[in-house]
Amino acid sequence: MSLKFSGRKSGPISSARCLPTLPVARGRGWHPTERDNREWMRILAENGWSLPEWPVEYGGAGWSPLKAYIFEDECAAADAPHVQWRAGYSLVGPVICNFGTDAQKARYLPTIRDGRELWCQGFSEPDAGSDLASLKTSAVLDGDEYVINGQKIWTSEAQYADLMFALVRTDPAVKAQRGLSCIIIDMKTPGLTVRPIETIDNAVHVNEVFFENVRVPAANLVGEANMGWTYAKFLLGNERHSNALVQRIKREIRKLRELAQNGEFGERFIEKPTFKRKLSELEIDVAALEWAVLRSATAHGQMAGRDMAFASGLKVEASYLQQRVADMQLEIIGPWVAPDFPEPDEGPWIEARFGDAPEDVPGAMTKALFRRAAPIYGGANEIQRGIIWRAVFQK
Ligand SMILES: Cc1cc2nc3c(=O)[nH]c(=O)nc-3n(C[C@H](O)[C@H](O)[C@H](O)COP(=O)(O)OP(=O)(O)OC[C@H]3O[C@@H](n4cnc5c(N)ncnc54)[C@H](O)[C@@H]3O)c2cc1C
Repeated sequence: MSLKFSGRKSGPISSARCLPTLPVARGRGWHPTERDNREWMRILAENGWSLPEWPVEYGGAGWSPLKAYIFEDECAAADAPHVQWRAGYSLVGPVICNFGTDAQKARYLPTIRDGRELWCQGFSEPDAGSDLASLKTSAVLDGDEYVINGQKIWTSEAQYADLMFALVRTDPAVKAQRGLSCIIIDMKTPGLTVRPIETIDNAVHVNEVFFENVRVPAANLVGEANMGWTYAKFLLGNERHSNALVQRIKREIRKLRELAQNGEFGERFIEKPTFKRKLSELEIDVAALEWAVLRSATAHGQMAGRDMAFASGLKVEASYLQQRVADMQLEIIGPWVAPDFPEPDEGPWIEARFGDAPEDVPGAMTKALFRRAAPIYGGANEIQRGIIWRAVFQK
């Protein structure tokens, strides 16, 4: 999706509305694009900030989890894209550092550091989301290569990722969890096809990925064969922790307060007791989330492996807080978000629908729509509750 705010009904497009800068687009609630992500990675790398929490020996800044947290807080306050939410930094890199070979560390860590290569995470399949261990994509050893066949789905950013960290079945004969391995796949390998999926916010964030006799060097296997479930759980702990995005929610609440106070959309919502109460409740819940995130961040760092049940709890709570803050923003924006669907021949829906709207509207609307997915991605909340239940009651 392009970041165009074209005024279909309101005359010529001003250049300021066509190409908002990175912080302006983020401040308005737009999802970062490939261009944004690559640009942001370059800026971080140039300043030595691209791997805040990683040890210096792996090219990281060597900051404490608290310092890394504060840095992300400042980035959020400045409307910069997430530091944490990059698959290379938050998800894949720590697995390679902990379980990869020296050759893999030498090959992949530098490009994660300088942002030259972006990653996607290929775990979910059409019949294996919540029941991930039942996945079927197979990797069969043939000489010094694995031959991969099957399909992944909901793969975030696969449409422009350079590399995939995939969970594949290497032994179909043993118990589901025991026959899985993690392997690194170059997205340009022949036989690999990416098919984008358009989501409810009229954008492409996720994809289907098909493998037809995709040949991958055996040296790309991460850790031991058939130990993939262990590495996947390590990665998912980091994913659920970073999904909390508490610094972003704090920033959005400040924005919500501004909108409630300035009356830009007709009414000063801050004067409505019911709205004020909801806002205070949200702020209290987010403060509680922040303390929980800080406890988790300082007790179990990114490299050490998270407490799985705690990470699940953060993910569940944060997903609803993200929805609440986005929904309250829509409450203020009010009639501007009322559907005005174009005729089929009227061009991209987003331009037609938001052509005349104030600048905060499209990002607020699309963000609120995308956040319907927050309780699903990173593992559905029902599954997280099961993990918490087992940790607490089945000790
Ligand atoms: C925006 C987005 C981005 C994503 N990005 C990625 C990615 O980059 N990489 C990747 O690998 N995956 C990704 N996913 C996939 C995500 O991890 C799965 O969607 C998720 O695990 C749920 O699996 P599913 O979609 O197959 O739903 P299902 O497993 O079919 O579940 C459907 C519903 O049934 C419920 N349910 C299922 N089993 C149980 C149970 N045992 N008890 C109670 N309720 C149950 C679920 O909670 C859910 O509400 C993404 C998903 C979304 C929406």
